Amino acid sequence: MSVQTVEAVVSRLREDQLLKGPLLVNWHAGEPLALPPQFYRSRIPAFTPLANDGIAVEQSLQTNGILIDDAFCELFQEFNIAVGVSVDGPAFVHDRERLTRAGRPTHARTEGGMSKLRAHGISFNAICVLTDFSLQHPDAIYEYFRDSKVRAVAFNIEEIEGVNRTSSISNHGYNDRFRAFLERFWTRVEGDGGVLQVREFDDMEARILDRHQRRNSQTDPFVNLNVAWNGDWSTFCPELLGVSFPEYPTFMLGNVHHGSMRAALATEAFKRLYFDIQAGVDACRSECAYFEVCGGGNPSNKISENGSFRSTATINCRNRILVVGDFIMDRIEERICARKSHPALDRAEEKISVEP
Ligand code: SF4
Repeated sequence: MSVQTVEAVVSRLREDQLLKGPLLVNWHAGEPLALPPQFYRSRIPAFTPLANDGIAVEQSLQTNGILIDDAFCELFQEFNIAVGVSVDGPAFVHDRERLTRAGRPTHARTEGGMSKLRAHGISFNAICVLTDFSLQHPDAIYEYFRDSKVRAVAFNIEEIEGVNRTSSISNHGYNDRFRAFLERFWTRVEGDGGVLQVREFDDMEARILDRHQRRNSQTDPFVNLNVAWNGDWSTFCPELLGVSFPEYPTFMLGNVHHGSMRAALATEAFKRLYFDIQAGVDACRSECAYFEVCGGGNPSNKISENGSFRSTATINCRNRILVVGDFIMDRIEERICARKSHPALDRAEEKISVEP
């Protein structure tokens, strides 16, 4: 992505007045550190006009960690870039799936990158993909992240989405095994006093206890703006950026070098995408008891698994919403019954007393 394209993104955001609050810039998709630190040094300043407008801009990136060295650590510190490392736990789990193109294991190299981060005092999060195999090893995975000094871990259930056309978790009984994994992980987190944060636990608790946390960024247009290297852009789920389906040859809605983003709202391409996604949200609203904490799921999962945005349940929502939602609701009820003091539970009790 050229400097001119980054500048054009910023100009479109300002001219179309698309920003009301903070902007999170996430350098994602592919391996962002395949580009040298100078790439980011010459592009991040393009966001300065937004800061001058009073818009808080945060930078983040997701990396496999292999290429992290001292120069990248200095870059992260210079621009306060939040770093997420894709690592699936200890080597015997990680190296089953994450191999080089030549088929070699990558865990030791990812570990090398994480050591650099620790040596520079940079805290980081991890994204851990859960496969059928990982679910058998909650203790090993917990201990790995705790001992790696990871600030927070997020679990990505292996999905049928975008270019990933199969999943090891679509087989029968996965939901029960996922629940058992969560139960064991929760026990270990509590046992160590919560030194490791878990996105799934915190996010679901917030969704249950606070209705303001329930916005679904995947179904509302322009919450996510997804821009490709050449300035082509789309919205809704980032995974739609590089895929196509027979009824949707492209999800691109424009190019930052040519025309306003607001103008795209009037195009047939946007209207069709929007109304198809909203039909799926409406179907979820009328069919699913979990709609309040979900908001209608992930359109990219729906079209990848069910062949239509106008559909409802997917493997992803059964795990991420139903299994996690039931699990966290059980924990909340247990704590309330035990009358344990906990700030989140005090809020829950308050809400339950005014919102029967
Ligand atoms: S949990 Fe699934 S079926 Fe229910 S609202 Fe969410 S996406 Fe729809």
